[in-house]
Amino acid sequence: MGNIIQASCTCGLESEQIFQGIGFQYYETRIRLEPAYCDLCGIVSGKDMGKNFCKCPKCRKKMKFYYEGLEADDNEDSDFPSSEYLESKEHWHCPKCKDENLIFGSMGCWD
Ligand SMILES: [Zn+2]
Ligand SMILES: [Zn+2]
Repeated sequence: MGNIIQASCTCGLESEQIFQGIGFQYYETRIRLEPAYCDLCGIVSGKDMGKNFCKCPKCRKKMKFYYEGLEADDNEDSDFPSSEYLESKEHWHCPKCKDENLIFGSMGCWD
């Protein structure tokens, strides 16, 4: 069960639809997509957070996950925040205009 999200910014950046979270196939694929960005190319894309090196599809450099910039919860065992972390902030870093102007819109749910 997950959310379909899309990042957009006033500068015109628009990401592909990102199937965030885990679905029923997770137990086979072990793929969990979370939004990541590349500051060099100015793109936002869904990347498998199980891999510690997610290459940018354009420049092949490492992409940065949005959750990486968040403060960790003190009493949190998990090294990863729950899927609701995207609701903790309204505006996010935009890799294109480098402003905190990017928002994640919900396009629906998937399972
Ligand atoms: Zn790139
Ligand atoms: Zn922007």
